[in-house]
Amino acid sequence: MECFSLLQNDVSALIDHLGAFGEVIAPHKKGDVSYSFETVRDSSEVILDYNRTLLPLKKSFLPPIEKLMDFSIKDLSCSPVKVPVEPRVFFAVHSYEMQSILRLDHSMLSGNAESNYLKRRRKSRFIGISFNPDEFHFSESVGIAIEEMEGFDLFLNEVEGDYQLYVLTENGRSLIQGFDKLKTTEAEIVEGRHFQKKIRYHYNRLPRVFQFAYHSEVWAEVASRCVSCGTCNLTCPTCFCFDVNDEVSITAEDGKRERSWDSCMLSTFAEVAGGENFREKTMNRTRHRLYRKFKYITDEEGLPWCVGCGRCTAFCPAGISLPDIVNELIQEDEKAQHHQRVLV
Ligand code: SF4
Ligand code: SF4
Repeated sequence: MECFSLLQNDVSALIDHLGAFGEVIAPHKKGDVSYSFETVRDSSEVILDYNRTLLPLKKSFLPPIEKLMDFSIKDLSCSPVKVPVEPRVFFAVHSYEMQSILRLDHSMLSGNAESNYLKRRRKSRFIGISFNPDEFHFSESVGIAIEEMEGFDLFLNEVEGDYQLYVLTENGRSLIQGFDKLKTTEAEIVEGRHFQKKIRYHYNRLPRVFQFAYHSEVWAEVASRCVSCGTCNLTCPTCFCFDVNDEVSITAEDGKRERSWDSCMLSTFAEVAGGENFREKTMNRTRHRLYRKFKYITDEEGLPWCVGCGRCTAFCPAGISLPDIVNELIQEDEKAQHHQRVLV
């Protein structure tokens, strides 16, 4: 694999160079304690050493609110909003975030591809960066290393304050063409980056735990603390549920159709016409959220649909921790197995 050294002082110049390809989107400081992926206006404002952004990169592919079309009731016609295919570079992306995009690809492009997502995805390039896990990251527990490079075109690995730049695709090679501040170097292994939070079992064993967890007492206990705010879904990079609303103008002659993010933790999410609600209880919604991450899609695809970013835990107003829930389910499962052995 081709590898170059890049000095910390030359990172801004690299970002400016990438601007020749298209819009560059990178982490910026937001307020005192938050980070956000924003379009780069001034490369010196890009933050490389960040823990996580509040909203995941999915906002650039599935906007929180998106007009799908205008319609006319008078003429019985509609005009869909055209989404342009634009070149974009996503800079300083963590490995779990990239993995979430690959999972979104699966969710949005399998079967009939979602065309707006596809257009936004088509000319997107990704440049990864290594990070130091904080107390909420646990992506290693779901099989994603800090230096996992799948999906990236280029990857920046921090070594003693400077960077090694790995070239991973032909698209990545074209991005750095003409940038003269890189020097060929040997790849180096960096040690000492450790995850503080862990799920106790290898993720391969989790579907079995979830197979027997449906009637667990853990759901009611977690639900007693949950305030059903939906933050965990909205900040989750692999959640993609949305609602579609038609807004008719006051003349009742025309209107617009909009799509907006939805959350399965909200009490009205599973409500249908006639007032029936399939997941009225908080514990049922809590269980559903975890099963979506570790059982339903995982059974089909063989991968957890949680990428261990830690957002749902870091931003939960009730302090509910996803790894703690999974570890409690594991503990309960171990107790049940022990009882079975004693009885046999
Ligand atoms: S963020 Fe926390 S309190 Fe809000 S719905 Fe999710 S688990 Fe419940
Ligand atoms: S479930 Fe939580 S930790 Fe897992 S990907 Fe979603 S927000 Fe991140």
